[in-house]
Amino acid sequence: MSARVMAVANQKGGVGKTTTVVNLAAGLAELGRRVLIIDLDPQANATMGCGIDKHGLERSVYHVLIDECETREAVVRSETGGFDVLPANRDLAGADVELVEMMARETRLKVSLADVESDYDYIFIDCPPALNMMTINGFVAADSVIIPMQCEYFALEGLAELSTTLRKIKKWLNPKIEIEGVLRTLFEPQRLLSVQVSEQLKKHYGDKVYNTVIPRNVRLAEAPSYGRPIFAYDRSSRGAKAYAALAAELVSRLEPATQPQTDNV
Ligand code: ADP
Ligand code: MG
Repeated sequence: MSARVMAVANQKGGVGKTTTVVNLAAGLAELGRRVLIIDLDPQANATMGCGIDKHGLERSVYHVLIDECETREAVVRSETGGFDVLPANRDLAGADVELVEMMARETRLKVSLADVESDYDYIFIDCPPALNMMTINGFVAADSVIIPMQCEYFALEGLAELSTTLRKIKKWLNPKIEIEGVLRTLFEPQRLLSVQVSEQLKKHYGDKVYNTVIPRNVRLAEAPSYGRPIFAYDRSSRGAKAYAALAAELVSRLEPATQPQTDNV
């Protein structure tokens, strides 16, 4: 069986993409799943947030994309997360331009993953806050997309642009791509706006909206500075409980066969 590959994307920055990648991966690792994170953002927040020093890397996703090494040679272990990481650093900032000269620039990540896909149950791709060549590589490599959304006023407009890009990807590059789920992040239930936008989202995306909501929780913001996913930082926090619930929801949606069967006969 090969991994389910999910890109976590939203061209808006600061909506919780990286936080979701790191903590959902850690939540699934806690459930015994084999997980790989791919960091496609030159800021390397996912890499650092997993306890991997971006300055000490000899190889990274950049070297994989420009064909200087094999995928497996660049993968490192997150000890604090219990999963593997294909890390990034600043080198990746030039990759968009470098890839223009290269063959198959949109499909490089997809081809690079073929070697390692059978080693994992889930692969999460942390996309940068732009619909650029890195994000396109993420969409081409992925089976589906998780869209983290902060329930703010212009949130839905941003989603329209993302949907247009996904339609183009589906037509030209990856016919199987679909929306895996829409995740409400940085949620503040006491704010009327949060609740209103949340209702609009449900109207528009229906079942695609995860039941699990990620609240604004300061522990989630603190954990990355210690290089730790939330479970290795404060597992009793509301943030930890929310990401544990999200991991469980994902498993119940994607692995129905592993759920106990009820037999009425
Ligand atoms: P993105 O990857 O979409 O740019 P991040 O995951 O890096 O967003 O989150 C942006 C900032 O908000 C970071 O400083 C992060 O620690 C913080 N943050 C993310 N999710 C939460 C949350 N649920 N509660 C509190 N802070 C959060
Ligand atoms: Mg990020």
